Amino acid sequence: MRKISADFIYTIFSDPVPNGIITIDDDGTILDVSPASTEEHSDIEHYSGIICPGFINAHCHLELSHFRGQIAEKAGMTGFIKELLSKRPEFSPEEISKGIEDAEAEMIRNGIVAVGDISNDNSSFRQKAKGNLRYHTFIEVFDLHPSQAEKVFTNAVQLKEELGKLQTMDNFKLSCSIVPHAPYTVSEKLFALVAEEAAKSSFPQSIHNQESAGESELFLSGSGPMFEAFQRMGVDMQYFPVTGLNSLRTTFPKLSKKQNLLLVHNTFTSFEDLQWAQEQMKKSSVSDLTSQISHLFWCTCPNANLYIEGRLPDYISFIKANAKMTVGTDSLASNRSLSVLDELKVIEKHHPGIPLQALLTWATKNGAELLGFEKDLGTIEKGKKPGLNLLNNLDGMSITAETQVLKLA
Ligand SMILES: [Zn+2]
Repeated sequence: MRKISADFIYTIFSDPVPNGIITIDDDGTILDVSPASTEEHSDIEHYSGIICPGFINAHCHLELSHFRGQIAEKAGMTGFIKELLSKRPEFSPEEISKGIEDAEAEMIRNGIVAVGDISNDNSSFRQKAKGNLRYHTFIEVFDLHPSQAEKVFTNAVQLKEELGKLQTMDNFKLSCSIVPHAPYTVSEKLFALVAEEAAKSSFPQSIHNQESAGESELFLSGSGPMFEAFQRMGVDMQYFPVTGLNSLRTTFPKLSKKQNLLLVHNTFTSFEDLQWAQEQMKKSSVSDLTSQISHLFWCTCPNANLYIEGRLPDYISFIKANAKMTVGTDSLASNRSLSVLDELKVIEKHHPGIPLQALLTWATKNGAELLGFEKDLGTIEKGKKPGLNLLNNLDGMSITAETQVLKLA
């Protein structure tokens, strides 16, 4: 048993507790959170800084970790995809496994306790089964040709079965769901197969959304850099009917809304889009009307947005729309680190003034809820085993470029 204290305890289920004391079991289970004590206790470990729950990385591609430092920055979405695809065959299975192993160790060092991870193949499954981190795997499908939809989907079902057979040492099943990649890479038929499968389960859904301006231009006007890139690749452009609607509004009706749904990136999502999607989600919600719980989650991956497009989402709109935010690192193909804290630093730098309690809620509680891990993770509450992160070198209650994370439990 340990008693741990810091200048403030951000439990994320209550207001911050100044000099609060957390009592934990030997295995990290929270036994108690109490207010500051006036008596001297020699058995309390006291730290300078704040303590928050372990971070949840809501969006990652562990299987792309071997691309660290390999892809040119600010090449735009089409440049990024082109380089990723051309360099893909250059790596051996050993290099891919090593990348995955190192990336997971990096996440653990950076205070991450659970990950919403995208898989297109089985290369990360063995590492996930070690149980070092909690994972929900989003098995991702993409293919524009309707004739290939069944084949692509069947392959995803096989991956799902393969992962389902694995079990971690501590008996956590490796949960997973089949999800579409992005509005511009999935045929109508494949969208329908994914939605049909999703309707049978309660596991979360996810899709990349409005990551570049070109993505929406495809559907709005049948033009732009993405339209031209597809044309150059000889793709049949009838797959992109001009709907006069942006990619979110074109795609949202095709997604299952029965369970938690995560929209990733949202770099070009407007306040009106946010409100519209939240309204659509409410309308199709099967939960009772008294429930105020929203099942629509938004993930921001600011470092990846700067890496690829050189632009960030409008966080003020997300806060104004009361959007349920989560934080992701995306992959090491488009990021220099896998650190939720590094993502928060970017948000703080470009949009100073968002309260720390809000930023930490995005980075912990919301992600845990999205992935269905809220029973154990996401808040410092009696009975949970959320992991404890110490954040130091703050400026008052703000994260700075010098802030570090130290994993205490
Ligand atoms: Zn991604």
